[in-house]
Amino acid sequence: ILQIHTRNKPLAAEVNLETIAEDTFGFSGAHLEAMVNEAAILAFRQGKKEIGKDELEEATDKVILGEKLERKPQRDELRRIAIHETGHALISETVRPNSVSNVTVAPRGKALGFVRPNGKNEHFLYTREDLEDQIAVFLGGAVAEELVYGDRSTGARNDLEQTVKITREIIKNGLSPLGIVDEEYTPKDRINSTFTEIIHHQEERVRKILTAKLSLLEEGAERLLAAEKISGEEFRNLMKQTA
Ligand code: ZN
Repeated sequence: ILQIHTRNKPLAAEVNLETIAEDTFGFSGAHLEAMVNEAAILAFRQGKKEIGKDELEEATDKVILGEKLERKPQRDELRRIAIHETGHALISETVRPNSVSNVTVAPRGKALGFVRPNGKNEHFLYTREDLEDQIAVFLGGAVAEELVYGDRSTGARNDLEQTVKITREIIKNGLSPLGIVDEEYTPKDRINSTFTEIIHHQEERVRKILTAKLSLLEEGAERLLAAEKISGEEFRNLMKQTA
């Protein structure tokens, strides 16, 4: 599909459509078309004759998250966002190596920062372990804030909604210690306590990982603040250096 939409557009030699395909996993044909057109506009505005990797990446972020916001957060807010996003990225790379495509702190329509996963962990079927890993990645942001600042913020709202959703999936699919449940007949308090237990367990796991990598968390956030965006590869190199 990417080949079709880029057929009549001048792509720079550095552009690898395979990589772009991986980064845009889950995009519909219409999304891909919008993304390629957006990249062409970006290149044109900068007076470039060819569409490069940067324009395609920027366009991908824009399709996922919307326009960059005019109003910029304060410097200390940006640092908190950077810590938060680095927390997600660190947990993601720890529980699912090579899963991060890039990390950004540029505030956009729907988010203040973002860790873009590549499509390698997208399946049709998930085991309990897969789902618990997803929960851990979602909790990574809030727990990172807590470790560095001593408290959490409202920036984790979407993460927590996703955490709740995935935890419910575990229980509904009979993957929790409760086994097969019937939403009507299984006592509510048993479901509630299992729900709390699953999340608590993952919070502990995430706290342990991030506590052991606290200096890496802060170093990663510093780099992110300076560069606004770092690629998964850069992030993994940083993890290797400080390991
Ligand atoms: Zn988050």
